Amino acid sequence: MLRVHHLNCGCMCPLGGRIWDGFSRGPTGLLVCHCLLVETNAGLVLVDTGFGTGDMERPYARLSPLFIHVNRIQFDRRLTALAQVERLGFSRRDVRHIVLTHLDFDHAGGLEDFPNATVHVMAAEREAARQRDTFLARRRYRPEQWDAVRRWRTYRSGGERCYGFEAVRDLDGLPPEILMIPMPGHTWGHAGVAIRTPEGWLLNAADAYFHRHEMDREHRHCPPGPRAYQRMMAVDPDRHYRNQDRVRALAHDRRAGVRVFCSHDAAELEALSRLSAQS
Ligand SMILES: [Zn+2]
Repeated sequence: MLRVHHLNCGCMCPLGGRIWDGFSRGPTGLLVCHCLLVETNAGLVLVDTGFGTGDMERPYARLSPLFIHVNRIQFDRRLTALAQVERLGFSRRDVRHIVLTHLDFDHAGGLEDFPNATVHVMAAEREAARQRDTFLARRRYRPEQWDAVRRWRTYRSGGERCYGFEAVRDLDGLPPEILMIPMPGHTWGHAGVAIRTPEGWLLNAADAYFHRHEMDREHRHCPPGPRAYQRMMAVDPDRHYRNQDRVRALAHDRRAGVRVFCSHDAAELEALSRLSAQS
C-alpha cells in the first residue's frame, strides 16, 4: 500500500506580492516546490526534489543569478528533501527512486543528496538538458545539479492512453501505481506523474499550470506573475496550453475522480498536506 507525504522543498518569494500567488499582503509572493515522498514496497520514491543541499550551501556555483534574483530563491537547508526525509525518520539510503517531472533547476536540485536512487525522466528532457542550446536553456538546466547522478532511466512516450493522455507505465523497478504522463510544452520532456493512492488518483501536473485558479475556477484565472513566467518558460507555448486544457478537463471530470495539483501553488500544497495528515 502506498503512503504519500506532501513536501515543500523550496520557497521562492518574488517581488510583487499577490500578483504572484493571489493571497500575499506584503511586498513578496510565495511560490513553493511541491514534491512527494511515497512509501512503497520498492522503498522510498521521491517525485521531484526542489532545491538540494548544494543549492543551499553554494547557490552561485549551481544556480543562475538570473533566477536567484528574479525568483528570489530562499536558502534554508531545512527545506531540502533530504532534511525532510530525515525528519520523517528515514535515511538518504532509503530513497531508491526519484521520478522527475523535468530537469529545471527548481525540480532537480536535490538529486545528488540521494546517491542510491535511480532517476527516472523522459528521454527528451535528458536530451534537452544535455544540449542546453538556448539562452534560457543554459540558465534553467544546471549540470552542476545532476552531473554526479549515476543511474538514469529514460523513457519515450508509450502510446498507451490514460484519461486522454499518453502514459508511460512499467517504470523500471517502480510499482504499477506510479505512472509518468508526458505533457511537453513547458520543456521538451516535461511530464506529470500520476499515483494511485488508497484515497484515489493523484496527478502531479508539475509546471503544466502554475496557479490553482487555472484549474478550479469556472473561468480560468491566473495572476499576472505566473501568467508571464509560464509564458516565458514554455519552449512550446501551444503545446503547453493544450496540455493545460487537458489537465483542466480532467480536474473538472468528477467521474474520473483525479486530484490534480501543480508544483508551485502554496495553497494547493497546504490543502493536500492537511488531507494527507488526516488519512
Ligand atoms: Zn518549476
